[in-house]
Amino acid sequence: MTSSILPLVESEGRLIGRRWFALWVDFIFLMGGALATELIPHKEAALWLRVVLYLSYFPLMEGLLGQTVGKRLAGIMVVTVEGHKPGIIRAIARTFARLVETNPFLAGGLPAGIVVLLNPRGQRLGDFMAGTYVVRSLGLKEYQAAMARGEPWGQRETPKPSARPETALEDLVNGWDPHAPTRTIEGFMGEGQCVLCGQMAPRARLLYQSSTKLYAHPACCDRLA
Ligand SMILES: [Zn+2]
Repeated sequence: MTSSILPLVESEGRLIGRRWFALWVDFIFLMGGALATELIPHKEAALWLRVVLYLSYFPLMEGLLGQTVGKRLAGIMVVTVEGHKPGIIRAIARTFARLVETNPFLAGGLPAGIVVLLNPRGQRLGDFMAGTYVVRSLGLKEYQAAMARGEPWGQRETPKPSARPETALEDLVNGWDPHAPTRTIEGFMGEGQCVLCGQMAPRARLLYQSSTKLYAHPACCDRLA
């Protein structure tokens, strides 16, 4: 059975911080690898090793494992819409776009970051080209476990609001939420439009809902109670 991970993708958010962190870890890792090849006495061999390292690092790591060193440390991975590892071909497509999108010698991760911000599923151009998504590794595990148990995703995060009681008053006016917690300031009076009947109240009782100041006739308040 293949199931879409889009509900997971949408609940994960864009993961910009983790992706940015992973990008720089991978950049430093590749720079370290390049420096290590300097130790090889045969200069031509060292050059070819660097070329192979640069060309194969992202396609192999992301294609076969879904993760580079940076993504592993950041706790994120690249997957297809079914939640599978992307494979070499998709990973090559992501890498190709990366030359423009996340090149540390051009604008760093800025182009990728902008595209990621512009779409709710957090894909950069390379993800669009490859049909891939970036999710938290842990999130993917939890999602797949929930699917295996036949549970709907995201219910824990958004519990259904409990049924609100019907209000006894039919003549409530704007600015008043009959179901919101209300604080009555006893003893303080003001002048304003009564939120319960809509008429001007020269001696209105002061009510607060959150930080919104409201006025009501004392008699209207008594009717409400
Ligand atoms: Zn009133």
